[in-house]
Amino acid sequence: SPEPLIPPFALDVIGRIESDYPDKFGIPRQPGLARAAQARLVLLPPFDDPLAVRGLEHFSHLWLSFVFHRSPPRWTPLVRPPRLGGNAKIGVFASRSTHRPNRLGLSLVELTGIDTSRGVRLELRGHDLLDGTPVLDIKPYLPWAESLPEACAGFAPEAPPQRPVTFSPEADAALAIRTDRDSLRELIVQVLAQDPRPAYRNGAEERRYGLRLRDVDVRFRAEEDEEGRVRLRVVEI
Ligand code: SAM
Repeated sequence: SPEPLIPPFALDVIGRIESDYPDKFGIPRQPGLARAAQARLVLLPPFDDPLAVRGLEHFSHLWLSFVFHRSPPRWTPLVRPPRLGGNAKIGVFASRSTHRPNRLGLSLVELTGIDTSRGVRLELRGHDLLDGTPVLDIKPYLPWAESLPEACAGFAPEAPPQRPVTFSPEADAALAIRTDRDSLRELIVQVLAQDPRPAYRNGAEERRYGLRLRDVDVRFRAEEDEEGRVRLRVVEI
């Protein structure tokens, strides 16, 4: 049986994520793919001491270590990355799958603000974190040590392809009345451009899909444009 982490090595949750992503469906596969996604990391006692983030304001990006708390605890040695169409299997340690031992996640996110008026709240952007995600650690990103554009990335050599996104007049009208219309539209476009449908559904289809973003239900479907390219159309918000 696996070797358990024995005290005093037990891990504590240092904070929780409040995110634009209330559901798993629709969250991009990695951070940076939807730069408009906003989140707040609320530190929990006793880690919500402003002294613990002194100097963090001088960094633009952070590594967050967290737990995939809404993934099942089981792990398997082989996983089926959506990137490979959902059928091909590779080793879990050759993937960024959520179905991994200890369910540990690691995301590089943009730090856009620090509020220490009541405890500590970090404003984040461009993340891939589900609302409620428990965070175990925060580290400042060091480009000189960690940015390796020459590295090779196996079966995921670049960001996934993007699809065009359009809005129906009804969806435009629903957005127009919101004070956050610009950032919400940007978030919807960036998330739908990733085509969140299951990997095996990549053509136009009559079926409508729904996903929750921020506090709205976005209903969309995949259609073909004049050149036969698949685009996603927001039909209702
Ligand atoms: N960047 C991280 C990494 O590489 O460890 C996460 C990559 S994982 C492929 C990204 C997916 O994790 C998202 O698309 C979302 O569906 C899922 N996810 C995000 N937060 C989660 C949570 N708290 N519990 C379970 N799944 C989560």
